[in-house]
Amino acid sequence: MKKTDVVIIGAGAVGSALARELSKYQLDVTVVEKNADVGGDSSKSNSAIIHTGYDAKPGTLESELVVAANPMYDEICKDLDIPFKRIGAILPAFNDEQMEQLPAIKHKAMQNRVYDVEYKTAAELLEMEPELNPEVKGGLFIPRESIIDPFLFCIALAENAADNGVHFELATKVIGIEQKDGAVTTVKTDKGDIECKYIINAAGLYCDEIASFVGKNDYYVTPRKGQFYILDKKTSCKVNYIVLPIPTKVTKGKLMCPTMHGNMLVGPTAEDMLDKEDKSTNTEGLESIAADVRKMIPRVNLRDSITQYSGLRAQRNPEGLNIDMYDDLKGYVNISGVRSTGLTNSVAVAKYVADLLIESGMKAEPKTDFIKTRKGTPHFAELSAEEKAELIAKDARYGNVICRCETITEGQICDAINRTLGARTVDGVKRRVRAGMGRCQGGFCGPRVIEIIARELGISPDEVCKNNEGSEMLTGFVR
Ligand SMILES: Cc1cc2nc3c(=O)[nH]c(=O)nc-3n(C[C@H](O)[C@H](O)[C@H](O)COP(=O)(O)OP(=O)(O)OC[C@H]3O[C@@H](n4cnc5c(N)ncnc54)[C@H](O)[C@@H]3O)c2cc1C
Repeated sequence: MKKTDVVIIGAGAVGSALARELSKYQLDVTVVEKNADVGGDSSKSNSAIIHTGYDAKPGTLESELVVAANPMYDEICKDLDIPFKRIGAILPAFNDEQMEQLPAIKHKAMQNRVYDVEYKTAAELLEMEPELNPEVKGGLFIPRESIIDPFLFCIALAENAADNGVHFELATKVIGIEQKDGAVTTVKTDKGDIECKYIINAAGLYCDEIASFVGKNDYYVTPRKGQFYILDKKTSCKVNYIVLPIPTKVTKGKLMCPTMHGNMLVGPTAEDMLDKEDKSTNTEGLESIAADVRKMIPRVNLRDSITQYSGLRAQRNPEGLNIDMYDDLKGYVNISGVRSTGLTNSVAVAKYVADLLIESGMKAEPKTDFIKTRKGTPHFAELSAEEKAELIAKDARYGNVICRCETITEGQICDAINRTLGARTVDGVKRRVRAGMGRCQGGFCGPRVIEIIARELGISPDEVCKNNEGSEMLTGFVR
């Protein structure tokens, strides 16, 4: 039987941030993830905003952690070589009723210690954001709302954790937990058992299922779906800021913002569902995005959509972010209710949990040889002509463009496959280096990416999967 000190269940933003945080200590840490790759479920299908917490419910753990997390991103993203931009958000009001809501929103921000929210006049907002509906009456500016590459964020956290000795058991599902004398002893998986002293449940939508293995499921989780459009980089109507509607009781509403890579992101919906696997998009949801976002940005051109997707927020019932340890079950940490701000607060949740474990008596001496930084794959398209020439001279594969939409080279794809926790699937390559993320969505480069994955891994092309087992992309030879 495998043995480790700490098992983290789930390699989404929360599990990956935890893995990196715990890798700073002299501990043996194992992450068990049911998917074939790190990056989670909700963590790869969200609005990709690093929130300030201006609108969180004051006095809650969520508010505390999201507010604490935001300032950490400059250093983390620099250390891990992840794209991150503090572009700021605007919250325009279009009628008197919305104008009357602004002071309460600003006051809530102050209660959450987000002191840099500012009023803006209609003229100021229109200067900042020329595509805004000219009927705007005024609004708020939240300067530290930021955007990130959510895929690379999780991947980089996990990679750095692995470089610091964390083991990742991918494509491995937790199916039970054993306890003895009031303490956890073993994680049972579909690939065998792992003996451990500590278990951290970071299973997102399925955290209630994991909690049920130890009788700590005094809550349940339902999915709240959010559908989105991604628009082509060349769309004529673009925004400079994250443009947010005045929130309602149910949702922060549908926004429009640039992505880290120059596309426009429009959405999401907020639909309460029952099926935790239903990530479909539908006409009704997409039309509701169009109707709502046009009120703020009348010229938004949804015909420039290159893809649509949906993500599922883990709605805890009763609601709220909870991080629990138990007197009658030593060594077990239950994280639940990581819902709409989990991408942001993951890094603070990780520090909070590490502290909780150490306070509870876990022996954790800091490492003296912790590797703080990670070097990402070169962004070929963003290099100068001299830098490109230098890279190609070192490795000719950087001269072979595979994904024409995003100008992604064979060298980048090989790096994505061959680095720590490298890509094993077509989606894995896409999320690491963006091959297939462009206008044609992999129509041209897909077959070539399959060939490269097969060659680099020494497998047959028909074994290459889109993502998880059973998603092989080729069915056989035609000729
Ligand atoms: C539409 C939408 C928009 C959002 N926008 C934002 C935003 O702009 N900013 C922000 O901060 N947050 C946002 N969020 C929230 C954020 O995406 C989530 O809170 C966060 O990603 C949750 O991370 P996680 O690690 O808890 O969950 P996940 O990413 O879902 O990861 C959980 C992992 O656990 C694994 N797992 C589950 N069960 C098992 C098992 N039995 N065995 C092994 N592994 C298991 C899963 O496979 C998964 O990989 C948004 C969410 C959605 C859906």
